[in-house]
Amino acid sequence: MRIDKWLSNIGFGSRKEVKQLLKSGAVTLNGTVIKDPKTQADPDKDYVLVHGEEAVYKEFIYLMMNKPQGVISATEDSRHETVIDLLELEDQGFEPFPVGRLDKDTEGLLILTNDGQLSHTLLSPKKHVPKTYFAKINGSIPENTYEKFKEGVVLEDGYQTQPAKLQIVKDSMDESEIFLTITEGKFHQVKRMFEAVDRKVTYLQRVQMGNLKLDETLPLGTYRELTEEELSLLS
Ligand code: URA
Repeated sequence: MRIDKWLSNIGFGSRKEVKQLLKSGAVTLNGTVIKDPKTQADPDKDYVLVHGEEAVYKEFIYLMMNKPQGVISATEDSRHETVIDLLELEDQGFEPFPVGRLDKDTEGLLILTNDGQLSHTLLSPKKHVPKTYFAKINGSIPENTYEKFKEGVVLEDGYQTQPAKLQIVKDSMDESEIFLTITEGKFHQVKRMFEAVDRKVTYLQRVQMGNLKLDETLPLGTYRELTEEELSLLS
């Protein structure tokens, strides 16, 4: 692989910026300063340092974000801030995209990656990857909601949902709290499932996807790379 591709891919800027970096003498390959952007290097055996720090080649990036309300889970939007706008520039260099969508007013676990294969696996309707949400609901939970969700509830457009698991945390006349695990991702699904039992979701947060749980210590609007162990939970 050309050294300019290596460095550009892992976030050292455009090919043009990397050319400047090389020209400045900041880059060494196995201990020797290299200045030619066309220099070939092998990620399996060569060591590249930039300003003395190892620049490890990697093809994919896997991020966990605690998505805040008010941002769109898309790569671009002409009017609103997107989750990509929340990333540091060097991470944006990988061109990650969000795995699936969360509504603008939904918070919580969002995975961003440039690994199309993993994204496909997590989103494929055939795989039934479970997603768990915490929600606040206006009013109490109507009787038989657990059974209705377990059997599949019919939404306003006639679609019957796949079996879902409801766990009631708090059931109260003014506001209830629940966890709901669904294995599909229809548009506004959790909100529409509660609408089907005459209730409104007033707050929604995704807390788990597959076996991966949201790191609750991650402040809203921030993100970090997945650990090897977390990544293995997704495959
Ligand atoms: N269900 C919803 O209604 N909204 C989301 O953002 C995710 C699931």
